[in-house]
Amino acid sequence: MKIIKIKLSISNAYLVKGKSKSILVDAGAPNEADKILSVVQEAGVNPKDLTLLLHTHGHVDHAGSTAELKRRLGIPAAIHSMDAFMLRTGSNGIVKPRNFEAKIIKAVIPKSFEKSEPDLLINEELRLEDFGVAGKILLTPGHTKGSISILFDNQDVIIGDLMMGGILGGALFGTRPNYHYFIDDLDDLHASMKKIFGMKPSTLYVGHGGPLKGRDAVEHFSKLMDGRE
Ligand SMILES: [Zn+2]
Repeated sequence: MKIIKIKLSISNAYLVKGKSKSILVDAGAPNEADKILSVVQEAGVNPKDLTLLLHTHGHVDHAGSTAELKRRLGIPAAIHSMDAFMLRTGSNGIVKPRNFEAKIIKAVIPKSFEKSEPDLLINEELRLEDFGVAGKILLTPGHTKGSISILFDNQDVIIGDLMMGGILGGALFGTRPNYHYFIDDLDDLHASMKKIFGMKPSTLYVGHGGPLKGRDAVEHFSKLMDGRE
């Protein structure tokens, strides 16, 4: 199993390469299908061996090219049921900025994207062997109500926007753990972080910047959650 970061204009998607099958995690912003598929090719993966387009959540920079990828690959799109409306309506829903910088970011990010119908709705934690990957979906709400993470058997985790690496959307200090700009529910977010930390993660692959070392994230956020900083 290998996790390959696909660095896009404002976010990361991931190619998770299994023994013979692979999955895509997240679909970037609008018009990024070409870039995603070029990384798939460079990684030596035949697009026919892709089995799933799994969304960590439904925001425009993670589901913006979903409709296009579905058309070109003919693979099912999976998303948690609480975020499914974002795919169906091609919109972000209500986005709550956590500070001034986040308000500016909110003003400049695209607001809509091509809608598509999800094929698989996630409501519970689910293993991914059927799709050729040794890992498990974990429910980790907080950034959005339907945010999920994927824990692999080697203790690496793709966590979407549960955290962010660095500042300016990961452009600077990308390996430093940070809160994402938008947080739907801080208590849920912290509970989800604790859940991930309980899994003793080695590397955290995030939606912006990264990757993060598990122990750096534990150290950074444990202090903040305890109110020690
Ligand atoms: Zn997001």
